Amino acid sequence: MDNCLFCKIIAGEIPSTKVYEDDKVYAFRDIHPQAPVHVLIVPRKHMDNILECDADTATALTDAIRAIAAQEGVAESGFRVISNCGRDGAQSVNHLHVHLLGGTQLAEKMA
Ligand code: AMP
Repeated sequence: MDNCLFCKIIAGEIPSTKVYEDDKVYAFRDIHPQAPVHVLIVPRKHMDNILECDADTATALTDAIRAIAAQEGVAESGFRVISNCGRDGAQSVNHLHVHLLGGTQLAEKMA
């Protein structure tokens, strides 16, 4: 999609630090990490947010979360996944993405 930051990252037009990829998903480090491990997991197919997520994409995202948690060494210690949606969800990039945060004890409350 034109003018979508994450579509441009997936296409390699904007640099990113790749963590994981497969045929449906691309994952890279957040440019402003909120935890020692902060990975953004993004479907290659553009969809604005989780409300547009189909079953195949949901499965691919879950598989990627599992693989990345193991790869980043947080599968045992634990981690958090968040997908911000829309204005009140404070979504700033309108391409569905999941934040995977870990590598430290996260706050019990999110806000
Ligand atoms: P959200 O606020 O949930 O839409 O998350 C968007 C995330 O994208 C934020 O955590 C930003 O730090 C991150 N971000 C923005 N631009 C880039 C970029 N060029 N590379 C990596 N992460 C980015």
